[in-house]
Amino acid sequence: MADTKITRRSLLKSGAAALAAIPVLAASGRAFAAVNAALRASMKYQDKPNDGKDCAGCAQFIPMPGKPLGGCKIFPGDDEISPKGWCVAWVAVPK
Ligand code: SF4
Repeated sequence: MADTKITRRSLLKSGAAALAAIPVLAASGRAFAAVNAALRASMKYQDKPNDGKDCAGCAQFIPMPGKPLGGCKIFPGDDEISPKGWCVAWVAVPK
C-alpha cells in the first residue's frame, strides 16, 4: 500500500514538472530550434555576410517561410541559419 502512494506521488511530481516546463518552452519560441555548433565551427560560419556574399544568395540555403532564420543543406539539424550569414561552403545561387 505504501509503495502505491509513493508511486502515485512520484508520478504527480514528474507530471507537475513537465507541465511547469511547457510555458517556458512556449515563451522562448525556440523549443525546437537547433544549432549544429561543431559543423558551424569547422565551416567558419558567421552571422554576417562576407565580401557581399550571404546565405540568402547561397544555393545551399533552405528558407523557412514565416521564420526569420532558415536551414542549410550542409548543416544537418541546424535551423537557425541567418539569411545574412556566411560560411566557407558558400556557392552562388544559379542564375
Ligand atoms: S553553405 Fe554556408 S553560406 Fe551557404 S547557406 Fe549554408 S551556411 Fe550559408
